[in-house]
This record gives sequence, C-alpha cells and structure tokens, in this order.
Amino acid sequence: MNKNEILDWLKTGEQQKLKQLFQAAYEEKCRQVGKTVYLRGIIEVSNICRKNCFYCGIRNENKDVQRYQLSEEEVLESAKTAMELGYGSVVIQAGERQDAAFIDYINRIIKEIKNLSQSKLGITLSLGEQAADTYRRWFDSGAHRYLLRIETSSRKLYQKMHPQDHDFETRLRCLDTLKDIGFQVGTGVLIGLPGQRMEDLCHDILFFEHIDADMIGMGPYIVHGKTPLAKSVGLSSAESNLELGLKMIALTRLHLRDVNIASTTALQTLSPTGRELGIKAGANIIMPNLTPLKYRKDYLLYENKPCLDENARMCGSCLEQRIKSIGETIGYHEWGDSKHFAKRRQMK
Ligand code: SAH
Ligand code: SF4
Repeated sequence: MNKNEILDWLKTGEQQKLKQLFQAAYEEKCRQVGKTVYLRGIIEVSNICRKNCFYCGIRNENKDVQRYQLSEEEVLESAKTAMELGYGSVVIQAGERQDAAFIDYINRIIKEIKNLSQSKLGITLSLGEQAADTYRRWFDSGAHRYLLRIETSSRKLYQKMHPQDHDFETRLRCLDTLKDIGFQVGTGVLIGLPGQRMEDLCHDILFFEHIDADMIGMGPYIVHGKTPLAKSVGLSSAESNLELGLKMIALTRLHLRDVNIASTTALQTLSPTGRELGIKAGANIIMPNLTPLKYRKDYLLYENKPCLDENARMCGSCLEQRIKSIGETIGYHEWGDSKHFAKRRQMK
C-alpha cells in the first residue's frame, strides 16, 4: 500500500469497508504467521521510573504512586507460573532506570530465568532507553527481544508528549543499537494522542517499515487522571479509538506482512473483547499479565486497566477460551519468534 491508500483507510468510517479491511488483514495474518496466537507473560518488575512522559500514570512526578520493585524470588515465581501455564516467553517490563543497581538486578533476573527454565523461556525486555553496553550485557545474558515504542514517529508530536529532556533522536539511536546487537526489535505507537493526526498515524506505519521492525506493539492512548495530558482532548472517543486501534493493526499487517503484532491490553480496556478483535484484525501475539496480584494496582500506566484482581491462572484459562472462541490455537511452549527477523537474518 502506498501512503495515500493507508491514509484513506485510516480516514474511512464505512463499516462495510472496514469489515473487509479486517478480514483481509486476518487472512494475511493466517498466510504469513498461521492461525496460532503466541503468549508472552508480562512481569511488571518495577514501577520506579526516572522519566516523566506526559501520558503515563507511573511517571516520576506522580507522587500518588506507591513504588515497588519485585524481589528476585517474586520474579522467578512469576516465571515459574509462565512455564506451568505453557507460555513460551516472558516480557520483563519496568519504568526506566539506568543506575548500576538496576542494570545488575535485571541482569541477574535474565540469567536466573534462563537457568530456571533451562533456556526454554524466551525473554523479551521492555525497559526503555539504555546505553549500548547495557543492552549488550542483557543480550549476552540471554534476552533476545526488546520492545521500545517510538510512541509517535512525528518528531513534533513526540516533543509535545514529553518534557524537554526526553529526546526523539536518542530513541531512534536506541532502536538502531538494539538491532545492531542482534535483538529482535519491537516498536510501536500510542494511538489517539491529543494533537495526533491521521497523517501522523500513516507516517507511523511507514516508519515501522523504514526501520525494518520485527515486532509491533501499539495500542490506544488511555487517559490517566494524574498526568499532565489528562486535561487534553484525544483524537477521538473511546469507541472510535478502539476502531482506530484495530485499523492500525490491520493496516500494519497488510503493509509489513510477516512481523509479529501484539493485540495489547489497552485494546481490552476499551472493550472486553478488544484483544480478540485485535487478533481478528491481524495481530498474533497476546501478553497476559503475570505480575503478582498485590502489585498490579500500582502499575497503572492508564486508567481502567483490566485483570487487576485475577490471578495468572484465571487469566490463562479465560484467555484460552477466548482464543478458541475465535478459531485460533495457542502456541504453547513455543517462542513464536518473528518470521520477519528470521528473514532479516538470512539476508545478512
Ligand atoms: N518504561 C518503559 C516500559 C514501560 S511503559 C518504556 O517506556 O518503554 C510501556 C508502554 O506503555 C509505553 O511505551 C507507552 O506506549 C505505554 N503507555 C504509557 N502510558 C500510556 C497510556 N496513558 N495509555 C496507553 N499506553 C500507555
Ligand atoms: Fe516511565 Fe515508560 Fe511511563 Fe515514560 S512510559 S513515564 S518511561 S514507565
């Protein structure tokens, strides 16, 4: 698809046409990556963050947040649950910190999870911007995928969404470095940000192509009352934000074809069946929450985050039924690596 076609699709509100779009994207997904949904159990290891992104509920300046960091034992317990539930991979996510204690903590966790699972669990990191040496150290210890959203590929909008000390160029550099080191690299954007235009979202999809991303994780922007952005009006209502999120997934699938695309929890926040709709619009990854229950209410990036009071096992069985109900199977015990990454490596 060229730029104008993507833009036309983003702007269309015709339900019949959208149905066809989602159907085409779902068929493309089945052709490229099969009828299997892969699970990455997400462990939100800490909500301590040195940054202040204007949209995020756990930003440093939100003093109402009770800060935590999981003990290594707690992380390992969650990883054990992932194995018992048959999840092929875990995602280690946290607020951003670059101090030595944090870097060592993450490094130990990676090694311990590798050890515990005899290298069977895949490890994805989502820990923000770091020095090249840090990324390399974590890679050498056994992490093999990294998620770092560009948040928006519009430099101008990026500046509006972040304080002055947050730098778009640094983010781009980090994405490059991660790729050079050998990570499977995931990026993505927030959909429906105040001041965002359809042109920006169209540019985001072309950006994913331009940086040759292996994985995409994007989701609707959802307000958090204790953030500077709370008073600003987003691109559209919750209902049309859901639709826009699904359109972005479908268009990304049709444009990039063989990448892994996550159907994010933010979609589920907007509709109880949001994640299933995401799969039916071309996504193939779901990230069930494995964070110990007592910490979940403290990891609120946005409001109304679902599954705050369901333990991992309940989430697991509820998810299995939901995925079956749409005619897909779960890739238990499989890493489900990005097909795009494999091709990228072969071409080298
Ligand atoms: N600190 C790391 C990882 C945690 S934040 C990082 O920033 O990369 C993970 C993602 O949560 C961010 O990339 C952002 O896109 C998303 N997020 C933050 N606030 C959000 C909000 N209000 N609505 C939806 N997603 C949000
Ligand atoms: Fe911190 Fe990530 Fe939230 Fe930004 S989005 S404030 S880096 S947790």
